[in-house]
Order: sequence, then C-alpha cells, then structure tokens
Amino acid sequence: MNENEKLAELLFPTITKTPEDYETIYPERGLSEGARVSRFAPSPTGFLHLGGLFASMVSNLTTKATDDGVFFLRIEDTDKKREIEDGVSAIITGLADFGIVPDEGVMGFNKESGNYGPYQQSHRKEIYQAIAKSLVQRGLAYPCFCSEEELNELRAEQEKAGTDIQGYFGEWAKCRNLSFDEQKTKIEAGLPYTLRLRSEGKPENRIKFDDLIKGKIEMPENIQDVVLLKTDGIPTYHFAHAVDDHFMRTTHVVRGDEWISSVPLHIQLFKACGYKVPKYAHISPIMKEDNGGKRKLSKRKDPEASVSFYTQSGYPKESVIEYLLTIANSNFEDWRKANKDADQSAFPFNLKKMSASGALFDLNKLNDVSKNVISLMTADAVYEKATTWAKSYDEELYKLLTADEAFAKGIFSIDRGTAKPRKDIAKWDEIKDYVSYFFNDIYTPDFTLPENISKEDAAAILEAYLKVFDANDDKDTWFGKIKELCEPLGFTPNVKEYKKNPDAFKGHVGDVSTVIRIAITSRRNTPDLCSIIALLGNDEVKARLNNALDEYNK
Ligand code: GLU
Repeated sequence: MNENEKLAELLFPTITKTPEDYETIYPERGLSEGARVSRFAPSPTGFLHLGGLFASMVSNLTTKATDDGVFFLRIEDTDKKREIEDGVSAIITGLADFGIVPDEGVMGFNKESGNYGPYQQSHRKEIYQAIAKSLVQRGLAYPCFCSEEELNELRAEQEKAGTDIQGYFGEWAKCRNLSFDEQKTKIEAGLPYTLRLRSEGKPENRIKFDDLIKGKIEMPENIQDVVLLKTDGIPTYHFAHAVDDHFMRTTHVVRGDEWISSVPLHIQLFKACGYKVPKYAHISPIMKEDNGGKRKLSKRKDPEASVSFYTQSGYPKESVIEYLLTIANSNFEDWRKANKDADQSAFPFNLKKMSASGALFDLNKLNDVSKNVISLMTADAVYEKATTWAKSYDEELYKLLTADEAFAKGIFSIDRGTAKPRKDIAKWDEIKDYVSYFFNDIYTPDFTLPENISKEDAAAILEAYLKVFDANDDKDTWFGKIKELCEPLGFTPNVKEYKKNPDAFKGHVGDVSTVIRIAITSRRNTPDLCSIIALLGNDEVKARLNNALDEYNK
C-alpha cells in the first residue's frame, strides 16, 4: 500500500465498494442511439419557482425529442439549511400541476422509481465516499484541517497581499502538502476535516466548451482546491453533480446559468473521476421589467415567481406551458399559427433555439395566450377544469356550477366552437364574474344606461320587447324582432343609415339591443344575447325585463 492508499483507508475505513462496483450497479442505460437523459435537480425548499418549472419543461422536452429519452427528478438535499419538511411533495405536485411527470427518480415523499437511485442525495453518502476514496488513492484529493478562522485569515492575508486570485490553491493551500504522518496524527486526534480536490489546473490555461444554449464559451481552468466533501462527509454540489450525473447516466445537464462559471471545475471533476463529460445547456433566468430596468423574477418580491400563483389563480396548465413555450423557442408562435389545434407535445422543441439572454416575463402576454387556449377548449373541458379549480379555491362557485351541470355547460357553450370564439377568460378565478348574471345568488342588477339613451326610451324599448320576446326564438327570429322594434320607437335598424344621418334618429339597433342586454345581464358587453336569453328561459327573462322597466319608470 502506498501512502495515498493508506490515507484513503484512514479516511474511509468502512467504505468497501469501489467505483468499478458502482459502474456495474449503474451500467450504461442501453437506450437507442442518440437518446437523451436529462433531469431536474432542485433542493427541497418547498417552493417551485417559475424558473424551475421552465427548466424542467425544457429538460423534459429535450429528452422527449429523442426516442427512449429519459427525464428524471433528483432531489438535492445535501444543504440542510435550505431544506424544509417534506419540501419534496411541493415540487412534485408543482410539476404535476403543469403536466410534468418524470419518467423516473423521486416520485413522492419517500417514493422512488428507476434503476439509478437512490435519487435523493442524502441517501447516496456511500457512493460519494467511494468515489472520494478512489480520488484520495490516486492522489487527487486530500483532507484539509483548516478551521473557519484559518480560512478567514487566509482571505485577509490574500487581500492584504493583493493577489490576483483568492482562495485555497497552490502555495496558499496549507493542507495540500501535509506529509502522511501529519495527516495521520490529525485524523487520529479526531480533528474535523473537509476533503479537497488537488487541482491540477494552471492559471494560464483556458478551457473551452460548447454550451447548447449559450454557444462556445472559453474560461480559465479551475485552479482551486475546492471542497468535495464537507466536514460531515456530505458532498458539495460540485462533487455530487459529477458523481450523480455520471452514475445516473445523464447525457444533457440542463440547469440555471448561475452554474456556468463552475463549468471548468465540473469538467475537471468529471475528468478526474474518469467520466465522460455530459453536454451542458445553461438556461438564462426569467426576467421581469422593473422601473425601466430588468431584474430576475424574485421569490421574495414577485408572487408570480411561484408556480402556486398560477394554480391558485386558475391558469390552466396548458396555458402556462403554452406561454413558457413561447419564451423558450422563438419559432413556437409561428408553429402555433400554422398548427392552431395541434397538441403542444407535437411542437418540435429544439434546445438550440433557446434564447441565450433572459426572457422577459409578461403577465399580459400570458393572459392573452391563456384566453386563446381557453377559447379553443370544449365547453365540457372548461366545465371540468373550472369546477376542479373551484372545488379547491371557491366553494360558492363550485356549488353554483355543479348544482345544474347542463345549465353551467350551457353557459360555457355560448359562442364556443365557432370560427371566432370569444376570448373572455384567462383564468378560472375570472369565471365567477363571467357567469354571475346567470345565478341570482351572486347577481346584483345594475341598470345604468349609456349616456346617449334616456330612461324614457329604455322603458319604451323594454315595454315593446316584453310583448314580443320568446326565449325559444332562434337567432334570426330574435334579431328580426329587435330590428322591428326600432322604427316605431324612433331608432333605425340600419347602423349605416344612422351614421349617415345621426340627427334623424334617437339611435340604432345596437342601442336597442344594449338596453335589452343591460336589463337582462347588467352589462353592455356579453356573449351572444340570444343564447343567454335561451338559457335563462322565459320566466327569468321576463322578470328581469320587468325589474329594469320598474327602475326606469321610477
Ligand atoms: N440543486 C441545484 C440547483 O437547484 C441543481 C443544479 C443542477 O441542475 O445541476 O440549482
């Protein structure tokens, strides 16, 4: 046994498995040619950021663009400070709410599936230590006994000396060149230690790599003896990344671009361990306009940073994903125009078409996208989704919608399935207001008229309409009757004629129908009034017309 091997035994006496054993336990996946394996690897903070959903969507779609692709969920819970109890479920539910279900990995609280686990880092300690042990055996890692104070002193010294580069490296790395005997004494005395990489990087060397989103990148090589294992034997992110993504056979690392500066270190770690370096795709953060400038969408400042905001407001999952696709791939909107009814999954997603700079989040755009998505849904789908949402978030609405399913579906059927469906609803929390005049329990009449129509004329219109209306009329008959009301009351059925000679009339057919619309719905703008009348039925419509009439006659 040479000294490195002796040191490895001293540091890891209970570790018996070797890297080769793990190569056998986690063999190459044997997927079809070109199949991509990618992952989402969040810390279990109990909070799913919109950026996390975005990264998962991109990562998942990247794998789904190949036959056999695998997308898995790994939980990075080595940083106890950031963990909250069962933060895992919040992430899984958060993803599932938007239709993202991993093929393998952590599937629930204490639930996993797949042959490459455990998928929770806190359960992988032995694997990290086995790899760390082999690095020590090969002289590529060493224990560092420096205390927090010593490291602070080092920083102060470097600042004083004005070194170009600060940190634990080269000459400054006190523990790098301890003799075996010194190491042994300290270990046997029970001194706490971290395990550090013995970096072979040189400050003058540069490293090049090709990021799938950001393109060609060149950076200085890593020269720091970074910590691989913390004093409790738990790995740092960097070391766990190399070990996990190797043994989980990740081909594409899709992650936030805050990690891009660490890529030289990561490449160095993969190489030191003898692993093939995966492909990297670094996603820019989603930005928000703020005071004329741009900043990252912030968990602290912006409610819309959390995916629960979208679930609670009742954005359909399809809308959120549709919107995220528009910011993910610049050609998505053109594709959508050419394929109006196609399922999102038919879009040929391409990592290379991701924007290298941060996309700007735009709630208005999301609302427009969502209105369009909802306008294309069937009435049954709207009913299902709106009631499911209401069940969790608005009990009163839930009761109203489910009391008479056919009636509620009738409301959602109005103007739907036509060449130009209305785009009134962006999210389910707008539904209550949208349907309010259909339900007397939540309807508050307001018969305020537009300025150009007098109460007297409104009363005359309603009186005349009360005599002829029938909720069973088809659209043509209904509109025919409204037109017939016009002339005797001093209005014209012909809008063009009115425009030519406005002084000759009190108004036109649009004003007449507005009066009727207001009497029945208290609104100036609604979906097709004839359908509304048909749904409400003769008795209810008559009662409403009479109420309005009473009001105008007061
Ligand atoms: N746990 C890391 C993070 O949340 C994961 C980064 C990665 O995907 O590798 O940023």
